[in-house]
Amino acid sequence: MLAAFACDPAQSRGRLYPQAPAPTRTEYQRDRDRIVHCTAFRRLVYKTQVFLNHEGDLFRTRLTHSLEVAQLGRSIARSLGLNEDLVEAIALAHDLGHTPFGHAGQDALNECMRQFGGFEHNLQSLRVVDQLEQRYPQFDGLNLTFETREGILKHCSNAHAQELDQSEPGGVARRFLDRSQPSLEAQLCNLADEIAYNAHDIDDGVRSGLITLEHLQEVALFDDFRRQTLAEYPHLHEKTQGRRLLYESIRRMLSAQVYDVIKATGHELEATLPRSADEARQMPALLRFGDEMRNKSQELKSFLLNRLYRHPQVLQTTGQARQVVRDLFDAYLAQPQEMADGFLARTDATRGANDESSTAARVVADYIAGMTDRFAGREHERLTGLKLL
Ligand code: MG
Repeated sequence: MLAAFACDPAQSRGRLYPQAPAPTRTEYQRDRDRIVHCTAFRRLVYKTQVFLNHEGDLFRTRLTHSLEVAQLGRSIARSLGLNEDLVEAIALAHDLGHTPFGHAGQDALNECMRQFGGFEHNLQSLRVVDQLEQRYPQFDGLNLTFETREGILKHCSNAHAQELDQSEPGGVARRFLDRSQPSLEAQLCNLADEIAYNAHDIDDGVRSGLITLEHLQEVALFDDFRRQTLAEYPHLHEKTQGRRLLYESIRRMLSAQVYDVIKATGHELEATLPRSADEARQMPALLRFGDEMRNKSQELKSFLLNRLYRHPQVLQTTGQARQVVRDLFDAYLAQPQEMADGFLARTDATRGANDESSTAARVVADYIAGMTDRFAGREHERLTGLKLL
């Protein structure tokens, strides 16, 4: 069923530590299973997507977001002849490196780490699966295949790419230096991520009351489907039917985006005819929206940025989240014994090294990045006596 340009698990570039094949599963199915069973994956349940975990039980978390990305990605992969298992593995792992408190947490940690090499969540997702998970007797991390790791490292600064390429020559960071593309499966996960969050942030935004169906009339991509739905089901005009109208409009919007990607990408693939996954990596990005959908998706993104992510109420909680992360960072750096044992041991191991302070800061960043919203709030209260979140 796989197209010539799909990643074939039998042709994988393999794992950092070679392992015998599994009897009943392909290499990418095995990656997916390792991800689902790891600790960082379970923590995604309690990590903020946009709304903090305690603000409501029905908002998306990083976990439900990742499941939605996997669903959309697999559905598109099936139509295009791409490898569904690889798409699923990348989608489920793509946010493993996210800090507590969403982007506010990540920005704050990045500021704290400025003089120590910074903090990037995509790079952190790779650190989680390569180093931080401790489940196997023989190696750190999950020892995933090259193709899954390639997809997880979605972005990376040039400085970090050079650093990574030194420790793994010609490895997953190479493409940022060569300016080539990742596999089509990895490209697909990026688009599925965008489709998923645009749609679920409308839903969560309306649920929170911070945006309304009236505000959404500014957004053509959504409003076309809202009007289409109302024309077919006039009873949804009633106020009590607002949620059904919202869900039906979102459903139509999602389908339209999925079909648009399949169609536009299908044209690209026909025009370029990549004969292998590697040939596709050397071409410009082939996974895409059509031009009109690209513009509409951009418009929706700007709307969400201005109306939701920068809403004063959202900014107020994110301000507190930043303070929690900054206070935790300072506290652990000054008193590493306050961290869990494994992290303290890693700090002790670096004593006397010439990059001691930056290594210690990295240990603290790893510790904080792994925290759930709830645990970070509790630790903050324990260490500072202040209850912020
Ligand atoms: Mg995501």
